[in-house]
Amino acid sequence: MSGNPLHEPLISFVTTDYAGITRGRSIAASSYVPGQTKTVGWVPANMSLTPFDLIADPNPWGSSGDLRLLPDDTARFRFAIEGSATPLDIIMSDIVELDGTPWVCCPRSFLKQALADLERETGLAMLVSFEHEFQMLDAAWPAAPAFALQAQRRADPFGPALVGALRDAGVSPEVFIPEYGKDQFEITLAPAAALAAADRAVVLRETVRELSRNRGWRCSFAPKTAVDGVGNGVHIHFSFRDAEGAPATHDPARPGGVSEMAGSFVAGILKHLPALTAFTAPSPISYLRLKPHHWSSSYTWFGERDREASLRICPVSQVGKTDPAKAFNIEYRPADACACPHLALGVMVRAGLEGIQQKLAAPPLFSGDPALLDGDQRAALGLRRLPQSLAEALDTMLADETVRGWFAPVAIETYAGMKLRELELAGDMVDAAMCQRYAEIY
Ligand code: GLU
Ligand code: MG
Repeated sequence: MSGNPLHEPLISFVTTDYAGITRGRSIAASSYVPGQTKTVGWVPANMSLTPFDLIADPNPWGSSGDLRLLPDDTARFRFAIEGSATPLDIIMSDIVELDGTPWVCCPRSFLKQALADLERETGLAMLVSFEHEFQMLDAAWPAAPAFALQAQRRADPFGPALVGALRDAGVSPEVFIPEYGKDQFEITLAPAAALAAADRAVVLRETVRELSRNRGWRCSFAPKTAVDGVGNGVHIHFSFRDAEGAPATHDPARPGGVSEMAGSFVAGILKHLPALTAFTAPSPISYLRLKPHHWSSSYTWFGERDREASLRICPVSQVGKTDPAKAFNIEYRPADACACPHLALGVMVRAGLEGIQQKLAAPPLFSGDPALLDGDQRAALGLRRLPQSLAEALDTMLADETVRGWFAPVAIETYAGMKLRELELAGDMVDAAMCQRYAEIY
């Protein structure tokens, strides 16, 4: 780290937008006083930025209007990363109007409101953990087998540096894994309150990127970095606490051990899942990953320990002193890192809350291969194929009045307009070129 007295360390006010990209503006860290509600300016049309750095045109905002980034003092993270010239503090910020009211398109405010509604309507708070997979591209390492210790050690000290940086940032890393794919790794975080978990996902992505850059490596969280390669997923684990803080996800007497309320939440998600993928798997190449036999997700499928299910009941180990009620959690698998974590989690919460309010019955559990079932069997199990392209996902989302109703019309117009422009811009690329292009961005 630089001890150069001419360097003034910065604090960055950041927002992660509809394109899943973290952007922001910085001030001198020494001029930031917690509680003083300092804000920096922001521009509405930024939300219409495609991942290709072109603003969708036309968009609802044009060149006019002003917003502010309002930092959340409770969501400040220190980036003191090995090899960086200076440390950086980042502070998660909400996009607000000049009078401080949340802006209709702010993804973090959208999540906050969804969580507040969940808590008000049901008394439930959510614990969440984002599990990320990513790959090192063009690494000049000797080949190594999948999951192998040597795959981890040839990247050393990447693992210790990553775990150390995340620990210092206060985001509680859990397990670092050499994964199945070529030069693929995974890192899991301890569960946290839902908003903090989405903030931590942002910190995790930027930490991996900065550490990789500092070592001269190129990393990517893109859902596919090669058409025939493995996918990089973002698996979103969730569980609930009731108003008294007691675990509320597990009921050993019910199918899969899923409490009645958690079953309704899951049913709500599955009901709207084809539309939700427009937000959680939001790039054209996301659909190269959401295919059968990819260990990702390709049907509206609730499963116990099956890694092709879109909502998977995770195992609880009987080794050690784990309290099953506390450890019990469900994993949402059709998400990737092209998605804004706050938006992805926000639509899950909204769909789950609908499920609870409508007292939907828990979906049937299935394990196996849906392709081996006939249409009637799949229908009986509620197994519907997920959209097979971003265009299909967007059409499905726009046709789902419930999902559209969670947003202000102008937010849907902004999101869909940006994504349609992204599709146009990606339109001429063949899949392999698209994977390469997205690998550069994400
Ligand atoms: N790489 C898989 C995915 O795209 C997940 C593999 C696993 O279960 O960890 O989601
Ligand atoms: Mg994995």
